[in-house]
Amino acid sequence: MQSKQYSFTRQVETHAHADVIVIGGGPAGTAAAIAAARSGKQVVLLEKSAQLGGMGTLANVSIFMPVGNVTGIYREIVAEMLAEYLPADHDQSIAPQYSPFLFRQYFNEKMKKENVQVFFHSEFVGAVREDRRIKAVVVSTREGLRAFEGDAFIDCTGDARVAIDAGVPYHAGREGDGLTQPMTLMFTMQDTGKPVVPILPEGCYEYNDVADLPQGRRLYWEQNGDGTLLVNMSRVKANGAKIEDVNYAETEALRQVFSIANYLQRTGFETYAIAHIAPQTGVRESNQIEGLYTLTEQDVVSGRRFADVVAQTNYEIDIHSPDAQKTTDEREVDGYDIPYRCMVPAAFDNLLVAGRSISATHVAMSSMRVQATCYALGQAAGAAAAIALDDGSAAKDVSMPKLHAILERQGVRFRVVTG
Ligand SMILES: Cc1cc2nc3c(=O)[nH]c(=O)nc-3n(C[C@H](O)[C@H](O)[C@H](O)COP(=O)(O)OP(=O)(O)OC[C@H]3O[C@@H](n4cnc5c(N)ncnc54)[C@H](O)[C@@H]3O)c2cc1C
Repeated sequence: MQSKQYSFTRQVETHAHADVIVIGGGPAGTAAAIAAARSGKQVVLLEKSAQLGGMGTLANVSIFMPVGNVTGIYREIVAEMLAEYLPADHDQSIAPQYSPFLFRQYFNEKMKKENVQVFFHSEFVGAVREDRRIKAVVVSTREGLRAFEGDAFIDCTGDARVAIDAGVPYHAGREGDGLTQPMTLMFTMQDTGKPVVPILPEGCYEYNDVADLPQGRRLYWEQNGDGTLLVNMSRVKANGAKIEDVNYAETEALRQVFSIANYLQRTGFETYAIAHIAPQTGVRESNQIEGLYTLTEQDVVSGRRFADVVAQTNYEIDIHSPDAQKTTDEREVDGYDIPYRCMVPAAFDNLLVAGRSISATHVAMSSMRVQATCYALGQAAGAAAAIALDDGSAAKDVSMPKLHAILERQGVRFRVVTG
């Protein structure tokens, strides 16, 4: 069938106005909202689901990968929730496993304390643009479409949904074929202390060998010593920002989850039962904006430093096969800077994009995508948006000395400060 196009015009009532509107409440969005609020701004955080934490809670990621710089709001979160893991120095690595349920509760209380107004079940639909500025975002709420007006906007949807809708150029996936890293449905199993009968529901697969498994490996963590097994073993070839891919992923990943659990129950975890399956299949990679600077593989492997550094990491290059082959490209890196310009779309004065959808190549994003780095980027975006409002400057002209000073006041420490 040939696709038709409709034009859709509607008068939309304004529900709220804020200095800074953050869209998406994952690691980047929560940190952006906190940082802007700490700079004295009125902040609204719009989240399409019922919880904060993004992939970290919604997709049950439940573990922080080591980034070699435990700093800023991320450090504070570790101190408040996982104090036993807090390193004495910021430049040590930690990889704590956590409860996504406790984090969900924690974020609700934290946002209240930080004076961030959170709207759940509020999904961004469209951006209202005037010249180089976003004036408002239209949001699907439980009461229908509503507008949220703001002076600055920070897109933390992970998919660059706001930026793309506003017309910011973007790319997705590998250069050449556009394939993104695959999706994974995370789940946990719990030691029941007695043998369980393995079940294999209709439609599932019988895996008998490690080689049969979707990733060709066993990948799980049981580091909390409480009998919880966190399993990251499904793998579905899909781009989590595409309609048909997501339909496929949500059914195929669930099949794999039951099949993997059945395999584990026959191969070492005979007393473990499925305890929880994430509400949604996790998205590692979808869209990247094209910003004022694009972080490259060369920057990552050469340990490049930038005068406008806003986040630092030494997390490895970590590419789960975009073809859904049973391979993962893992390469250690020594550490590098991510510059502010990766979050700035050239055509807008009051829009920043933080988190995994910053301007980066496929290989570079595979390293910068982990949670701690997204918290750092979000924090910088929130502080930068506040400076832009105070100074009446465009996002691209935010003063770096000022940004670095505010980040320092907010507890951020860099290993190497350039410039
Ligand atoms: C399976 C898997 C395993 C991973 N393993 C690890 C790991 O072990 N350790 C680690 O540190 N990292 C890991 N990661 C990576 C990490 O979880 C993500 O890259 C990180 O959460 C990205 O943060 P973000 O804030 O950019 O985006 P996200 O976490 O994706 O958050 C985006 C938020 O925006 C919301 N949103 C999206 N669209 C809209 C809209 N239209 N309107 C309103 N809200 C919207 C979403 O609901 C979500 O809450 C993993 C990721 C996956 C998928």
